[in-house]
Amino acid sequence: MRQPPQLVTTCQQMQQLITRLRSGAQRIGLVPTMGALHDGHLSLVQAAQEQCDYVIVTIFVNPTQFASNEDLSKYPRMLEDDLHRLEDFHVDLVFAPSEEEIYPDGLSIPMKPPAVAQPWEGVHRPHHFAGVVTVVDKLFNTIPADVAFFGQKDYQQAMVIEQLVRDANFSIDIQICPIVRDKDGLALSSRNRYLDGPQRIQATALSACLEQTQHWVEQGERSTRILTDRIRQQLQEHGIQQIDYVAIVDPATLMEVEQLQERAMLLMAAHVGDVRLIDNCCLMPLRQLPRS
Ligand code: AMP
Repeated sequence: MRQPPQLVTTCQQMQQLITRLRSGAQRIGLVPTMGALHDGHLSLVQAAQEQCDYVIVTIFVNPTQFASNEDLSKYPRMLEDDLHRLEDFHVDLVFAPSEEEIYPDGLSIPMKPPAVAQPWEGVHRPHHFAGVVTVVDKLFNTIPADVAFFGQKDYQQAMVIEQLVRDANFSIDIQICPIVRDKDGLALSSRNRYLDGPQRIQATALSACLEQTQHWVEQGERSTRILTDRIRQQLQEHGIQQIDYVAIVDPATLMEVEQLQERAMLLMAAHVGDVRLIDNCCLMPLRQLPRS
């Protein structure tokens, strides 16, 4: 077992440490999280550990990305357990600030998110990405790392952050790491703990639909309307009635595509009981090779 990571809770201490580190030409990796760490988060930590000399994990449940009807108060907070889980990895530092530390003047003006934040999650969680870009901007300013690791699980979020980096000229590389799933296919999420037994089984319909869609595409289906209609139908057959969106989109702009010609992303969000789940996968239509 390794040393537990150093715990830092103030921006001032964090900035002092990072100034010292940056003068030493170390490659610094940053893994932003809201804690309640699971193997999905830990895969980002693993990637950071493999590619960087110095690894910083942030744990902060960001209030500005939750709407008033969302689950901020019951979001799991378990710093001790999280620190313990990180002992198995090479993590140098955990930055776990308080709300007052990140928002010393209260929850003042949020930043305006880029256009890629508008569809899908942006429609169903209208204030969410303003909160995300506000906090990520603060984290990137406090911790000017060389590379930051995010999960494909939150695909739209990753696109929003890539745009933030371009817009604000941050010199931080963004790495998007693959989705980690449970054995039954369900994408790991801190919110899965709120699913009861039958809901847990129902929830596997999301990843089953992603897999099924990849087969339909392999078999030649190219109409995204036919594909998304079939997915909705399958989700409903599994008892999932509240579907926020099912969409096949351009990977960069997140605009819907009508015919699958190039690589596209299949994005979905649906409710199982009170738990809102998101999932996605890449769709790769193989080009028809000319007959020789
Ligand atoms: P969160 O704590 O939910 O804000 O997530 C922190 C980071 O972990 C984000 O970049 C997520 O996309 C990523 N993440 C969450 N779940 C998974 C997963 N199942 N596989 C890979 N990355 C994930």
